[in-house]
Formats: sequence, structure tokens, C-alpha cells
Amino acid sequence: NYFGELRDNKETLISLDVDAIHIDAVRGEKEIDGIVANFPQDKILSIGIINGRNIWKNDLSKSYQILKKAKDSLGDRLWVSGSCSLLHSPVDLSLEQKMDSNIKSWLAFAVQKIAEIKTLSDALENKESLSDEFEKSDAVVADRKSSSLIHNPAVQERMAKIDDAMMQRKSSFEERSKIQKEKFNFPLFPTTTIGSFPQTQEIRKNRRQFKKGEITNEQYIGYLKKEIEHVVKEQESYGLDILVHGEPERNDMVEYFGELMQGYAFSEYGWVQSYGSRCVKPPVIFGDISRPKAMTVEWSTYSQSLTSKKMKGMLTGPVTMLCWSFVRDDISRKEVCYQLGLAIRDEVVDLEKAGIDVIQIDEAAVREGLPLRKEDWADYMQWAIDSFRITASGVEDSTQIHTHMCYSEFNDMIEAIARMDADVITIETSRGNMELLDVFEKFAYPNEIGPGVYDIHSPVVPTKKFMYDLMVKAMDRIPKERLWVNPDCGLKTRGWEETKAAMIEMVETAKDLRKDFA
Ligand code: GLN
Ligand code: ZN
Repeated sequence: NYFGELRDNKETLISLDVDAIHIDAVRGEKEIDGIVANFPQDKILSIGIINGRNIWKNDLSKSYQILKKAKDSLGDRLWVSGSCSLLHSPVDLSLEQKMDSNIKSWLAFAVQKIAEIKTLSDALENKESLSDEFEKSDAVVADRKSSSLIHNPAVQERMAKIDDAMMQRKSSFEERSKIQKEKFNFPLFPTTTIGSFPQTQEIRKNRRQFKKGEITNEQYIGYLKKEIEHVVKEQESYGLDILVHGEPERNDMVEYFGELMQGYAFSEYGWVQSYGSRCVKPPVIFGDISRPKAMTVEWSTYSQSLTSKKMKGMLTGPVTMLCWSFVRDDISRKEVCYQLGLAIRDEVVDLEKAGIDVIQIDEAAVREGLPLRKEDWADYMQWAIDSFRITASGVEDSTQIHTHMCYSEFNDMIEAIARMDADVITIETSRGNMELLDVFEKFAYPNEIGPGVYDIHSPVVPTKKFMYDLMVKAMDRIPKERLWVNPDCGLKTRGWEETKAAMIEMVETAKDLRKDFA
């Protein structure tokens, strides 16, 4: 077993007719003593003491204590191992050349983790000969406890001041909605997109050249500005109501923001498999998170200056930043998420100050962050949604907050989604023929929704009829005054040709809907 405590499955697992049993001793640390004490005489116990899911060096002295105790009762029947397969850990830290050497000294990737397993196993036979290894490990533990790279008093001061008021918009959605309707005067069934437009070969080439120093910062910025201008002109020509800048400056929605925040580190080769043949290179949250300066304000105000239409500001939310990063293990995930929430809150407020009053805070990963065990869900949802609310609640009633979520199977957590209290959510529903909207039959979702009228994962250009019918279905569950028309996710993996065709059809669909349902 791996990925968690055994809890009520403990007896079952231990009584299985097998020769050896493996346990996750990282997440299940509290259970180890109990399991060892009652472990059958004829079985081997493999204690997964090295965390296979993170990138931190192990505290060898602490692990040794745990293993030693188990060894005393199990003898040769004890094996030492990783908590789970090393699939979720990058391969080899020694390849990293650019990383800060302090931070690097705290890390272990798969190759280093295997060495740790060996060290611990050998130490059970002869600890004296390995005293060097243990001293080094103790030094790392001490360094991380006190390092000024990790601990930022200003962040901790702000954390101590978080209160309910910070998680609360000034007025209820009902009030805000009135103010916003009057201010923005958007048409019925407003049209928008989720943020990114095609990340073309050319964009990637320019980014590569910039990173390699082959083009200057000025050239790169100049190129991106031209690209944004193009994206804005295209959207105007389709007749979209609320525009976006297209995100050409972002390599990835998490990495981009991580690079601009303090407390984040990056690897060059720290790839891990995410799904099937897809790989990601998660950034590392090693310390207290802060935002030294505005991250998107210049891009957003530049983009707004190109059009008389509304330009939507575009940010990644705290829960998604957390879920798609390697996270420090010395404080709780909740605390890290709150810190991210505070940092992104500052960005939201700065955008508002700069005149950007429609702001989307993407929370693509909110659903996948749910813990495996249902009994742990409530706790997660509480702090995850609170973190979002910290991020979103610093603005006036007249600022419209959007959020976007992928994998929108919300049956289990629709109340939590509602508690986010975003003025508008855009979600993924098109693939299931709006089946995912069934949850809105039982639950009266109070705010505005863009149910995602076509699947951006496919190059197929949706027909007007397809999108129109989906919206009619949506209207069964959500009043038309609260419905938006948009694709179900960002367009960055699509080409321009199909994007253009789809956008034109989508805008036409909204026009038809307005005619028929005004
Ligand atoms: N704004 C992001 C984009 O459009 C959202 C991506 C996502 O939901 N995964 O690319
Ligand atoms: Zn999405």
C-alpha cells in the first residue's frame, strides 16, 4: 500500500495471505508502531520511509529512530524502501547546474532517494561507519529550520493577521451583480475565452531564443507585444465581448507566476510524468511566498490600451499554484496555500488599481486537489476555498471576479464551488453533453456561469447547432441572465485556423441565442 495511512484497512491488509507487505510510512507515520507491534511472524514488512512524492532530503536521524525500533522486533523481516514508486520524483539532482546551492543542498531526486534508502538500510547494520551521512543530514535539517531564504518575517506577520473580513467581498453577490450589470452593460450571453490563444511555434521559438540569450529582453518584449496586438485584433474581428491578451508571455500557468514570486525555485531537468506520455516540471516551493512586485499589471494595461472592449486580467489561483508545485514539508499545505493567496491578492488589487476591473483567477486544479479519503475532504475544501477567497476579496463590488476550473465534475463539491463566491465561473461541461450540469438541478448555484460550449481538447470546429443546443440545455438549470458563452478551457494547444473558425461560430451562436431568448 502507498499514498496514505491504512486506517480502517489495516486489519484487512495485514491478514492477507502474502509474503510481504509494504506500507507508506511517510503519510502513515503514526501507524508504524501499531503495525510493527502486531505484525505476523511469517511476513516481511517493507517500511516506505523515504518520501517518493516530494523532492526533499530525508531527515535520516529521525528515520533511523523509527526503523531501529521496528528492527528490534522484526529483525531480518524488515525491509527499507521508498513510500511509493519514484514515478513522481524527478530523476537526478546532480544534473542541476543553475539552482541556488543552498536550495540544492536541501533536495533529493530519485537517484539521491535510492542512496538514502541504502544508507538507512546499511545503518541498521552499522551506524558508526555512516556517521558522516548522518551529520550531513542533521545539518540540512538545522539549516532549513533557520535559513533566512525560507523564513520571511513580513510574510509571517501578514499570515497572523488573516481574518474573516479578508475572505469576504464587501457585499453579497446580489448587490455586486446589480452594480456590475449597470457598470459593464454586457449583452445577454456575453462571450469570452478562458485566457490563452494558440502558443505557436513562433512564440516558443522566441521564448527559447530569449532564454538562450540569442535575443535581448527588449526584442522579446517587443515580439510579445506584437503577438498580443494580433490576438486582440483577432478577437475584435470575431466580435467577442470580453477580451483576453492571450498569455503568449507564459510558458506555463504555474511556472510563470512561480518565477515571479519569492519562495519558489526551479529545476532545469526536474521532469515528472503527469498523465500518459505527458510530463511536467513542477516548480519547488521552498520558503515563505511573497510577490516582490506586480507580475501582470504591465501586460494587462498594455493589452487594455489596444482596445475599447473590456480586457480581462488573468491570474493563476493559490490552490492551483499549490497543487502543481512541489511543496515544502515543514509547514502545512494550508499555510502555504494562504501565503500564495496573500501574494496573488496583492496582484488582484494592483490590477484593479490599474483600471483592470474584470479579473479571472484560474483554479484549474481545485477538483484534483481533493484528498483520496472522503473523510478528509471537508478540511481540504475549507482551506482551499478560503485561500481563493483571500485572493479574490480585496477588490470593490464593482470589480468582476471570474474563476475557471477544468475537470468540472462538481457533484461532490458544488457547495464549495459556490462558496468561492466568484462573480462568474467558467467550467468544462461540453464533453459530457452538459451532463455535468445535472448537479445544478439539485443545487441552485447562485452566481454567473459559462458552461463551456465546446471541447478545446479536440481540433474539431463545433457547429452552431451543437453549441446552441448545449446552451438551451444549460438554460434548463440556470437562468439565461446568468449564462456566459465560452470554450471549456484555454486555446493554447490549438492552431489558429480552427480557433478562428470556432470563435466565429461561437459568437454567432451567442447572437442567435440573444435573438431567440431576449
Ligand atoms: N487561463 C489558462 C489558459 O487559458 C487556463 C488554463 C487551464 O485551465 N488549465 O490557458
Ligand atoms: Zn481549463
